[in-house]
Amino acid sequence: MKITALTLYRVKPRWIFLKIDTDEGLVGWGEPILESRPETSVAAVKEMEPFLIGKDPSRIEHIFQTMYRGTFYRGGPILMSAISGIEQALWDIRGKALGLPVYEILGGAVRDKIKAYAWIGGDHPTNVEEDAKGRLEQGFRNVKMNATNACERIGDYSEIDDAVERLAAVREIVGKDVGIGLDFHGRVHKSMAKTLVKELEPYRPMFYEEPLLPEHLDFLPELSRHTSIPLATGERLYGRWGYKELITQGLIDLIQPDLSHVGGIWEARKVAAMAEAYDMGVAPHCPLGPLALASSMQLDACTPNFVIQEMSLKMQYNIGGDLADYVKNKDVFAINDGYLNLPTLPGLGIEIDEDAVIEADKEGITWSPRNWRHADGSVAEA
Ligand SMILES: [Mg+2]
Repeated sequence: MKITALTLYRVKPRWIFLKIDTDEGLVGWGEPILESRPETSVAAVKEMEPFLIGKDPSRIEHIFQTMYRGTFYRGGPILMSAISGIEQALWDIRGKALGLPVYEILGGAVRDKIKAYAWIGGDHPTNVEEDAKGRLEQGFRNVKMNATNACERIGDYSEIDDAVERLAAVREIVGKDVGIGLDFHGRVHKSMAKTLVKELEPYRPMFYEEPLLPEHLDFLPELSRHTSIPLATGERLYGRWGYKELITQGLIDLIQPDLSHVGGIWEARKVAAMAEAYDMGVAPHCPLGPLALASSMQLDACTPNFVIQEMSLKMQYNIGGDLADYVKNKDVFAINDGYLNLPTLPGLGIEIDEDAVIEADKEGITWSPRNWRHADGSVAEA
């Protein structure tokens, strides 16, 4: 089998879909997107296209090695997101060629269903109580929200009080058995994080996500001395080498590879195995579209130290397009009592509605990132 064509689609709200055609009529889909850099993501894939045309799509590791190592410069969000989407599409083709879901090729299922969570509140964590009720009605048993708004390097204690009151209110509504993930989003600096992790702890959050920016991983051990709540991070780390220090230095409890940024399904599986050897769990990051989620679900099915899956159903960014809008078998993302079913179709397990994708591409995407400022006009982490 040979790769014959790559086609890229811009799809609302903020996704890029890649279709890879082959000379045997099988097609594979992937999601090579770095949020807020859609055109850069497209250009990165286009630059890899001449190398891919004519290649045997079953040689996934060899193609990965060439894309990663073959151009001297390597890693980083742009190149790894492009590689990720291509890699996902290659697995989709491989699974379809063999008539198997990808997880059946990667060791088989190690669980019967996949625990998942959805977002409550937005970039600014408002309406969290109402959203939490809605998520329970939809069938979720775990949720996540931003812990804070923009946070001063050393702010006043009202920022701490707001975060604590918000979590307390959600805990009151959902009861003691619902998991509440708290995303610090890299907004909080070390000096405030130490107080926050302690004061939020009585409300038993499921984990603290990105309690510090990825630039400050070396401070995580100090932070973990202030709390017993699991610390999570990893959405802004790329490839097994990007994760090496985090894992081998034992800096975290839960890694969060994003399957559209880390290098794809097989790369994430390798990172997960590294983490397993250091007693860390895996909670794939996925605020993205259906192909990123479908890829994540393949990993979740076959990874022993998997903990919980993020999904973007009706999340704050999904304006103009939602998770199942471009998927024919929409039931694949149905939530039952907190769980997704294991996908059963060959490949990634979803059937893309290409007509809907082509229609969406005519409009393109306009999503743009946040650009936050502190009260004094200086740049804030968003
Ligand atoms: Mg996050």
